[in-house]
Amino acid sequence: MTTTADVIVVGLGAHGSSAASHLARRGLKVIGFDTHCPPHTFGSSHGGTRIIRQSYSEGPFYVPIMLRAYELWEDLQERSGVELMRITGGLSIGDTRGKGTAGIRASAAEHDLPIDILTPEQIHERYPVLHPNEHMEATFDPRAGGLFPEPAVQAHLDEAVNAGADLRFDEPVTSWRPDREGGGVQVETKSGTFEAKQLVFTAGAWLPELVSKLKLPMWIERQVLFWLEPKANADAFKPENMGNHGWEYDPGYNFYAQPDYGEGVKVALHHNGRSSHPDSLDRVVTAEDENALRKQIERYIPDLNGKLLNSAVCMYTDTPDLHFLIDFHPGHKNILLVSPCSGHGFKFSAVMGEIVADMVTEGKSKFDLSNFGVERLLSEESQAACPPERRPYATV
Ligand SMILES: Cc1cc2nc3c(=O)[nH]c(=O)nc-3n(C[C@H](O)[C@H](O)[C@H](O)COP(=O)(O)OP(=O)(O)OC[C@H]3O[C@@H](n4cnc5c(N)ncnc54)[C@H](O)[C@@H]3O)c2cc1C
Repeated sequence: MTTTADVIVVGLGAHGSSAASHLARRGLKVIGFDTHCPPHTFGSSHGGTRIIRQSYSEGPFYVPIMLRAYELWEDLQERSGVELMRITGGLSIGDTRGKGTAGIRASAAEHDLPIDILTPEQIHERYPVLHPNEHMEATFDPRAGGLFPEPAVQAHLDEAVNAGADLRFDEPVTSWRPDREGGGVQVETKSGTFEAKQLVFTAGAWLPELVSKLKLPMWIERQVLFWLEPKANADAFKPENMGNHGWEYDPGYNFYAQPDYGEGVKVALHHNGRSSHPDSLDRVVTAEDENALRKQIERYIPDLNGKLLNSAVCMYTDTPDLHFLIDFHPGHKNILLVSPCSGHGFKFSAVMGEIVADMVTEGKSKFDLSNFGVERLLSEESQAACPPERRPYATV
């Protein structure tokens, strides 16, 4: 027997839960599937905190979408009655020759956003536990802060279910195809065949494999998170005293720290992790992983280099230009490919549901998504940037 819906959502993590919520709240009949039971620790949306910031270093074109995301996070937080976001202000500290601070200045200038620029001396004066080098500067974004991913995913899932979505956990989609008439799509799971007019892939690290025929030049990057206990000046790391701080310590090399929300100070290197398949991700944290991070902590934030409290492994799903993929499948205009990751997508998940719902119901978004199209990934240059051995699917 075939079960039918208006839209099937494959993957109910950060973006899929939001998509299911927005679609169902617009009155569409939604069926959603997830391999696991989100929020869970097997994908890209765990680890207690995510950074939100508005002066967007990755490009001014993200800012209008980001500003809408702030509104939707506030709305969701109010409706759910659960703390999902805490605005603390946040610093981006970088070598003045690096891309990070230049990108923030460009976004702030184009969208008239307030930022403070601090010299190394001013950074240290304001935050004595931070020791930038003489080539660095900081931008302070007063609207930066933390998001709490697990309750955020849960809040979206709850709203989806309350609006009538049929969400099925521990039920992976094993295959999909256009339906016989060509106007809809069919997916298979262990419990049967499901049919819908439209299909949304929000499968995170598994998305490239689900559409492997497209040969998307995307790879899965292993990322390790650590929670440290400061060895001195613990109060300085509390959210009321210092928000998150990202460091571009060499051009293209970054680490970041979240304030201590009660579990210790979360720190991690950003990018330059090993490529992996999501199902065979190495989740064992090694001394080598820890030492690579501690080297930077000792150099720039020595008071933080205390006892290891916890660690976890997570995944980025990267594109060659590190921008998102949000587009219709090039061969099927009723299938949406949604992969806002490359290590910076969570903060957009509140607005991603609205974008998906607009694309499903109106065929387009009100935002300029031209930097997130699929065609750019099919270009020779993008293909060359991701050799077959780096891809999480068989390329033959
Ligand atoms: C360590 C780390 C730190 C990060 N820090 C930040 C940050 O500070 N700020 C920020 O904005 N972003 C950050 N990001 C990025 C952000 O977390 C991700 O972009 C976002 O979580 C991706 O969400 P997603 O919905 O694409 O993937 P996920 O949340 O992983 O969801 C994908 C879901 O699809 C399911 N699935 C897969 N295959 C199938 C199938 N065949 N059938 C059914 N279900 C399936 C999976 O089980 C999973 O639940 C970070 C990411 C990591 C890993």
